[in-house]
Amino acid sequence: MPSRKTAIVTGSTSGIGLAIAHALAADGCNVVVNSFSDTADDRAITDAIAKHHGVKTVYIKADMSKPAECRALIEKAAETFGSVDILVNNAGIQHVAPVEEFPIEKWDAIIAINLSSAFHTIAAAIPRMKQAGGGRIVNIASAHGLVASPFKSAYVSAKHGIMGLTKTVALELARDKITCNAICPGYVLTPLVEAQIPDQMKANMMDRDTVVREIMLEKQPTKEFVTVEQVAAAAVFLCSDAAAQINGTHISVDGGWTAQ
Ligand code: NAD
Repeated sequence: MPSRKTAIVTGSTSGIGLAIAHALAADGCNVVVNSFSDTADDRAITDAIAKHHGVKTVYIKADMSKPAECRALIEKAAETFGSVDILVNNAGIQHVAPVEEFPIEKWDAIIAINLSSAFHTIAAAIPRMKQAGGGRIVNIASAHGLVASPFKSAYVSAKHGIMGLTKTVALELARDKITCNAICPGYVLTPLVEAQIPDQMKANMMDRDTVVREIMLEKQPTKEFVTVEQVAAAAVFLCSDAAAQINGTHISVDGGWTAQ
């Protein structure tokens, strides 16, 4: 039986990251679960993935706003499982405010967590992937990596940035059997999206239902939220042998948002 691949998913204790951790475990990978909180819940989630899918999992605390911790996450994962085959850069935060009022510390945190963390994890993972004879890097970008919306200057900038990083890394590693691609989800109803509803209500002077209908789902022609499982399925596909020639590009999972 071939040895299991090691998959690292950043920010994987909730939302899309958690669904990707489950889906890669279901596909037979040993999974590194990460967040910056290190709670009993984080460890229970990690154990539950192992138990449910019959693979090995480990929880590694690392704050993705800190370059040294991003790089240490990869090293600890390699020490634990002996290889790094799949890296999914998923950790992300959001803040909604007009650009002239956008708090500087929020700008810095969003650029650090949503963009720079991927630079650090990728840089640390590449030697391990080369050692393993190949690998897969999947960056969870956003429809906001392709188009903009008002009041999200930092998020849109970081997500456009990660699209550039994705293409550059793909070109640099094309001869090493390492692919680097992005997934661009539309609105997925996760804690990250729940948390921005009150800010959107304030910025747009709307009630909750109106924000969901006119700001969020207004963008998605299907008029439905994307599910975390749908994003996770795209990630598993990009990590499969069938996707070996898909490189430096993205899969949109946005109900048609960016077709407009
Ligand atoms: P979420 O809030 O449910 O999960 C975010 C995860 O990131 C959590 O596990 C959290 O612990 C982790 N995280 C946050 N800050 C961290 C830090 N400093 N260090 C380590 N981990 C940290 O959000 P989500 O909606 O599942 O978002 C996941 C990714 O998907 C993000 O990159 C987000 O931008 C992207 N995305 C989400 C949507 C959506 O509609 N929900 C749409 C497009 C893209």
